[in-house]
Amino acid sequence: MDADYIVVGAGSAGCTVAARLSEDQGSRVLLLEAGPKDTNPMIHIPAGGRSLLRHPVINWNYGTAPEEGSGGRSIYWPRGKVLGGSSSINGMVYVRGNAADFDGWAQMGCRGWSYADVLPHFIKSETYHGEGDDAYRGGGGPLQVQPYRSILPLTHKFVEAAQQAGFPLNADYNGAHQDGVCYAQMTHKGRMRGSTAATYLAAAKGRTNLSVETGAVATKLLFGGKKCTGVAFRQNGQDKVLHAAREVILCGGSVNSPHLLQLSGVGPAAHLQSLGISVVHESPGVGQNLSDHYITRIQHRVKGAVSMNQLARFPRYVPHVFRWLLMGDGALTFSAITAMVFTRSREGLEVPDLQFLFSPGSYTQTSGVLEREPGMSVNVCPARPDSRGSIMVENPDPLAPPIIRPNYLSAESDLQVMLSGVKQTRRIMAADAMADVSTGETQPVDPIETVAEMRRVAQAIGTTIYHPVGTCKMGEDPMAVTDSRLRVHGVQGLRVVDASIMPTLTTGNTNAPSIMIGEKGAAMVREDAAA
Ligand SMILES: Cc1cc2nc3c(=O)[nH]c(=O)nc-3n(C[C@H](O)[C@H](O)[C@H](O)COP(=O)(O)OP(=O)(O)OC[C@H]3O[C@@H](n4cnc5c(N)ncnc54)[C@H](O)[C@@H]3O)c2cc1C
Repeated sequence: MDADYIVVGAGSAGCTVAARLSEDQGSRVLLLEAGPKDTNPMIHIPAGGRSLLRHPVINWNYGTAPEEGSGGRSIYWPRGKVLGGSSSINGMVYVRGNAADFDGWAQMGCRGWSYADVLPHFIKSETYHGEGDDAYRGGGGPLQVQPYRSILPLTHKFVEAAQQAGFPLNADYNGAHQDGVCYAQMTHKGRMRGSTAATYLAAAKGRTNLSVETGAVATKLLFGGKKCTGVAFRQNGQDKVLHAAREVILCGGSVNSPHLLQLSGVGPAAHLQSLGISVVHESPGVGQNLSDHYITRIQHRVKGAVSMNQLARFPRYVPHVFRWLLMGDGALTFSAITAMVFTRSREGLEVPDLQFLFSPGSYTQTSGVLEREPGMSVNVCPARPDSRGSIMVENPDPLAPPIIRPNYLSAESDLQVMLSGVKQTRRIMAADAMADVSTGETQPVDPIETVAEMRRVAQAIGTTIYHPVGTCKMGEDPMAVTDSRLRVHGVQGLRVVDASIMPTLTTGNTNAPSIMIGEKGAAMVREDAAA
């Protein structure tokens, strides 16, 4: 079972990497995935995603350590454990980020990652089916990006209200600029979810030089001196070993990539030694620089309009099942988020630092499931937070989860941005267009006028929107884990290619940038092999 390239993790980035590397007929590529094949139908029906949030098999079901920022609560962190990884369970919203995010990476010393450098990889990755400028959008890539096939009137009301509140309509927030209110673009494939397994990997299926092993949990990276030579993994209760003739490419995501590096002896030396893990290479930044999108949700009770709350219940969803089967639209094509606003927390900022994510549904505070009563909600999200946390191995057993400490709201600046976002969202929800569909705000119940009040509310009801990044950041400073070609500093034969290499969060959801990283990472592997 040896290969030229072993790709660990078949998620957003990993499927992209394996599909692109296996285009070279002369390269033997082996893709290892801890979870099963993506045969569960709920993965593929867009509205089925809600049922996967706490799925016992195809989800890693992580939780954060209770911390001050989350009021002593553990915040639930789903991550996909299945072919397609988190792209098989995510909300499918397609957001590339702001050009300034990538220019910022280049400014931090990540050579080759400016917006001009990454744009061709975004374009290569997609086939776009919506309105936009061809200079920014792709027409021949595996990933299908399209507008919603059905839109509830509540979403139109929100978009209208935002315009009344002064936010201009933006037809393509993945185009020339991000500002304004917009309808969400989705990684759908026709009526189905377009995960990277259903798109990239499906297109590569049948190539004899690509093997995919599922139910295969990598437990350790193997080293000969400082060279990574292969991977130890557990499959069907058996321990096995694979050797890589060229490289091991780690695509385990922002939680598992740093965890596997630490388990394998690449990380903060003193901590690893305290757990009895032999150090291969001291790299103090492995697991540090964790950054995530922490939100406060504003909810309204709905009158005189249909929300997802009603449509998700029997018997209201029954006609939608037929509609989905016959016409490929209706409520089964819905995910949670249908419209968004990108804006600034204060005057003078060059680019947006806030994202509002609108859902024509309302959710219970603690478990995030749809409420019984009809409602709508807006997630207020500081898009480029300053708070940083960590992910650390605490048990040398490779199957034990690491400790996740996001340190939410430890930077006061994040609260100031969030406070501005709450005030702006309330302005939108008070606009005329909302008057005939809202009976008023139901959450948060406490006043939010000051940073102290914002802190109390965010501690009590804030939560993640599942975008951890940064735990194996690329760069050249002493805390950087990889260089700009995503090679792990201090060792040979090993790269990290996934969301964990982002030095900072992008302004928006993180699936599209993770796939772009997969595209660019694969291109760099191929260039280096040819050099
Ligand atoms: C519930 C949810 C909703 C989200 N909604 C959106 C959204 O609407 N839009 C958006 O842009 N982003 C969204 N995201 C975020 C986005 O999906 C992620 O940022 C992105 O998928 C990360 O890609 P990745 O390749 O880094 O990791 P992943 O896609 O998580 O892939 C990692 C893969 O590695 C595998 N793996 C890990 N460890 C091992 C091991 N030891 N051995 C073998 N395999 C291993 C995992 O099982 C997984 O398949 C959401 C995420 C979640 C969880």
